[in-house]
Amino acid sequence: CGIVGYIGYREAYPIVIKGLKRLEYRGYDSAGVMLYDGKTMKVAKAKGKVSDLEERALQEITINGTIGIGHTRWATHGVPNDVNSHPHISNSGDLAIIHNGIIENYAPLKAELINRGYVFHSDTDTEVLVNLIEEVQKKDNLKLGKAVQVALNQVVGAYAIAVFDKKNPNEIVAARLGSPLAIGIGEGEYFIASDASPFIEYTSNAVYLEDGEMANIRLHKSMKVRKIKDDSLVNPTIQELQM
Ligand code: GLU
Repeated sequence: CGIVGYIGYREAYPIVIKGLKRLEYRGYDSAGVMLYDGKTMKVAKAKGKVSDLEERALQEITINGTIGIGHTRWATHGVPNDVNSHPHISNSGDLAIIHNGIIENYAPLKAELINRGYVFHSDTDTEVLVNLIEEVQKKDNLKLGKAVQVALNQVVGAYAIAVFDKKNPNEIVAARLGSPLAIGIGEGEYFIASDASPFIEYTSNAVYLEDGEMANIRLHKSMKVRKIKDDSLVNPTIQELQM
């Protein structure tokens, strides 16, 4: 299970696919990618290897876009199949999430969301989280980062996540608790990954999020890292990676 994300000026697809291949050692049963081209979110997912995903992506979507997230899944909730693969998209079609880990209290959260009219297409705990973020965001008209924070404070479990919101597409929000997450800092670009191997060829500056931290990663802005629990700002240590 691994996650990769890119936001910048290069084509995201080759970076994400190559990154997922570097993370293959972590083990997985399916893979998926979301690309944003300035207009639409394009999603391709496939049970099997990253090479199966590549075949699928070439058939089903145009693989351009300078924002992308990708995932290798090790199924915990829902069998390994195409639909249960990540990314998962919220009911409005605006939010996309990739997630490593487990949302332990997904069942009561899911029941409540169904009560509010949400529809679920997969059997994953992750699809519950993306719709919880959407519900929180809509209810109080929140920006993505705030909505992710409020939602995560209702969640019991473990996660490394990256979330994208088409309504505010210059940003990816990442968070971790119990699963690793590294952020590569370039010039006018950011990388997100389970470890630094997907981005070490592009930048040698990295921040490793600590458990309980989240990052607002905005294009052409400095990254903001906060504690999920109390919203306090953290001054992240930028590490110099050895090539
Ligand atoms: N619990 C999630 C799922 O089953 C994520 C699994 C993972 O870490 O890859 O879809």
